[in-house]
Amino acid sequence: MNITIIGTGYVGLVTGACLADLGNKVTCADNDKTKIAALKKMIIPIYEPGLEDVVRRNAREKRLNFTSDVKEAIKKAEIIFIAVGTPSLDNGEADLTGVENVAKTIAQNMNGYKLIVEKSTVPVETGSWVEHTIRVNLPKSKKAKFKFDVASNPEFLREGQAINDFMNPDRIVIGVESETAKNLLLELYRPLNTTIIVTDIKSAEIIKHASNSFLAVKISFINAISRVCESTGADVVKVAEGMGLDKRIGRAFLDAGIGYGGSCFPKDLDAFITIAKKNGYDFQLLKATRDVNDSQKKLLVKKIKDALWLLKDKQIGVLGLSFKPNTDDLRSAPAIEIIKQLQAEGAKIKAFDPQSMDKAKNILPGVKLCKDVYETARNSDCLVIATEWNEFKKLDLRALKKIMLQPIIVDGRNIYDPKEMLNSGFRYIGIGRTLEK
Ligand code: NAD
Repeated sequence: MNITIIGTGYVGLVTGACLADLGNKVTCADNDKTKIAALKKMIIPIYEPGLEDVVRRNAREKRLNFTSDVKEAIKKAEIIFIAVGTPSLDNGEADLTGVENVAKTIAQNMNGYKLIVEKSTVPVETGSWVEHTIRVNLPKSKKAKFKFDVASNPEFLREGQAINDFMNPDRIVIGVESETAKNLLLELYRPLNTTIIVTDIKSAEIIKHASNSFLAVKISFINAISRVCESTGADVVKVAEGMGLDKRIGRAFLDAGIGYGGSCFPKDLDAFITIAKKNGYDFQLLKATRDVNDSQKKLLVKKIKDALWLLKDKQIGVLGLSFKPNTDDLRSAPAIEIIKQLQAEGAKIKAFDPQSMDKAKNILPGVKLCKDVYETARNSDCLVIATEWNEFKKLDLRALKKIMLQPIIVDGRNIYDPKEMLNSGFRYIGIGRTLEK
């Protein structure tokens, strides 16, 4: 099939590369000329394991190409995926300017039947607005001539394992209102051996917001439990294990810590709360979820302060900046917010992340970015774990203790065994586990 993806970010690039790998002819379009110029030279703008191989292979086989000429890309394709960003506005609503702009451009460049697929995460009823926007912007001469359909096909990939998630999804959701759209999408996804749920467009849109919100609730739930564990002497890691083995609950997303971040959960929760309110429902459960999440970051700063007394001029080493491991994505990363809170109290920050140092340069003024864990730890009053990268899980504790000013570890992701830390001479402060007392 001839496919165009508009928006070549985390989702657009992975979707484009994977659909090309399934044998389709794919054009990835983006209005960021620098990004497209880099991609044409096979420079991948994001860190995503395995992505470069898929991009290179399919570009070589001439199934995947890149352009900043969005209009031409629209003309070439029968199926057009919209994968532009949908960030939060100040009032929490999703900013759909990009989606609307793309819909207008599609209308103005229609040259035959088009299936327009929402891949971006959008509030319920966006599909109707996209359809309306295309209809009113279609030049009169084309109105009777060209037919089009709108569909919703939300993306559930996780950064860090995006290729595998795209190729082996738990399910594919397609929201459609016509047989043509349904058949095209069923045919497109036929090679992926998974359950395909066909719904109306609005239900598909809500499935995405509801899924992300549910996962956020789960994280905030265990974080709330961690507070009770902490004040009673229980261990939240054991509690999560005991809960998670119940098949009705499941172990995933039950890790207490400094909360969720990233470009999806915070913004999608805000957008869902806002769209629910617009439709007359006050989504208090999600508001509470958001509050718990915010409080986890403040809690970490308080723990550091309790351990160090005054923060002014204290040297704090932060391990991990990305919002989760195996990505370089710093959008709404808890580490960034925590560093800013610590800096506001006068602390001096050193930091290291395995993949996001280039991106960190631009957004963390005043932070000394280090080349590794040990440079970060040297002369630090405490070491903070903000992202659970595997390489932080096995450190040379003896070497670490020698070079730190004070052997204090504040483990915001509960990646260490508290007993091992204590035995190695560290003061260990985790989340929802009080062994250090
Ligand atoms: P991104 O910021 O990485 O990429 C968006 C791209 O769209 C950018 O390259 C930008 O230049 C381009 N763009 C914006 N407006 C454009 C326009 N008018 N014409 C052409 N290009 C335009 O964002 P992302 O992380 O890929 O997310 C895209 C959408 O997918 C969002 O709605 C997001 O919520 C959703 N989503 C993201 C993830 C994820 O893990 N990142 C997962 C599922 C869904």
